[in-house]
Amino acid sequence: MSEMNLLRHITPAEQGLYLLLPFEMPANSARLDLHYSYQTHTSEPVNTPEGQFARTRRLNIVDIGLIAPDGFQVGASGSSRSEIMVSEVSATPGYQPHPLTPGSWQIILGAYVIAPEGVDVSITLEFTPKVPRWLCGDLHVHTLASDGSLPLEHLAEHARIHGLDFIAVTDHNQAVKRASFPKVEGLTIILGQEWTHYKGHSNFLGLEQPYQGSFIANNPEEVQAIFREAHKNGALIVINHPCESNFSFHYDLDSLDYDLIEVWNGPMRPANLEAVARWDAMLKAGRKQVATCGSDYHEDTFFQRLASPCIYVLADSNSDSDILKAVKAGRSYFAFSPTKLQLLLDVDGQTFGASLAWREGMQASLKALALEKGDIIRLITQEGAKDIFTAPEKGGFETSLLVTGPSYWRLEVWRTFYSFLPPMPALITNPIWFDRTK
Ligand SMILES: [Zn+2]
Ligand SMILES: [Zn+2]
Repeated sequence: MSEMNLLRHITPAEQGLYLLLPFEMPANSARLDLHYSYQTHTSEPVNTPEGQFARTRRLNIVDIGLIAPDGFQVGASGSSRSEIMVSEVSATPGYQPHPLTPGSWQIILGAYVIAPEGVDVSITLEFTPKVPRWLCGDLHVHTLASDGSLPLEHLAEHARIHGLDFIAVTDHNQAVKRASFPKVEGLTIILGQEWTHYKGHSNFLGLEQPYQGSFIANNPEEVQAIFREAHKNGALIVINHPCESNFSFHYDLDSLDYDLIEVWNGPMRPANLEAVARWDAMLKAGRKQVATCGSDYHEDTFFQRLASPCIYVLADSNSDSDILKAVKAGRSYFAFSPTKLQLLLDVDGQTFGASLAWREGMQASLKALALEKGDIIRLITQEGAKDIFTAPEKGGFETSLLVTGPSYWRLEVWRTFYSFLPPMPALITNPIWFDRTK
């Protein structure tokens, strides 16, 4: 945390003016705390026959407010609060959650009443930096607004009960408006919609209105135009359940602007294994394709549950923009459910999604937590797949592996969930890429 102290002397001549006090917001700030103080009253003893009393007299009233570098009024709270907090996801009442954009911010000091001798206003600013941490969420859920069974308020509560840090609301061809998002402590709700078409489904994440007009498109050119517009506007675009028999994706992916491919949709089944194989073929062909997952939750059934699967992302903060940044970068892995099962890979302080220049002797640290007896850790690279560990019992596992050459590395944990079924993926990571040095 870093701190900054500012002092502003306000003269009686400035009474009735709004003064601006600039300060620099450091890069990578997650939270701003502002505290200000000045002499509000004077107090003098008064002797009376009954004893001594203190007579207080109002000396100064200084109001406060905050303006972001783009001129947006983040808030103004008169003189009623001396402590103000702002972050991208929450703020003191009277202030808006706002990204803490680096650059020149301004404090509004309203010189409402100023004593004849003037007043010193001292301001302390505390900046809490962003610290990357693993967050768990579900990027594909439906509400009552389309064919889901729960209104968003219930779904949000449901998400917290499952221990989720975020959900993306992806109703068919319509976005639930941000203004109607319920406030649930500790849960980030991400804007989205599932572009749902007879020839393919695709999640557009992060925007209320990714494209103008309607979702309809009757030829590849019209589909390309929608994707191009949404992508240009900043939507994160996911090709959903590409191999699902009734809802597979029929358009040529190479002709579309998109970011991610949803390789794990709902319960693990042949269509997901096929999507993983298709993704792996893209990776083997040299494409740095990032994958994602989502439960496609509609209602609780034997097969379908919220956060099955869920995505773990290493995000700089719990703001929607930082979560989507991590999703886009592939700093993530997917698990069958939010359990304690974890798989972490560290190479030179970097993890999944990173592109590193390969060098001789490069080491990768692998750490697995909460494996079940019989769980298999599989390493998939340019050269193929190799089982590197079978858990002899419940517990963790740690090892260091030599990166033998330029390649991509991704990992899977395979588990026998039911003795009458073959093992299936319990966890799938995004790759880390080891690039050939020129
Ligand atoms: Zn779908
Ligand atoms: Zn869906």
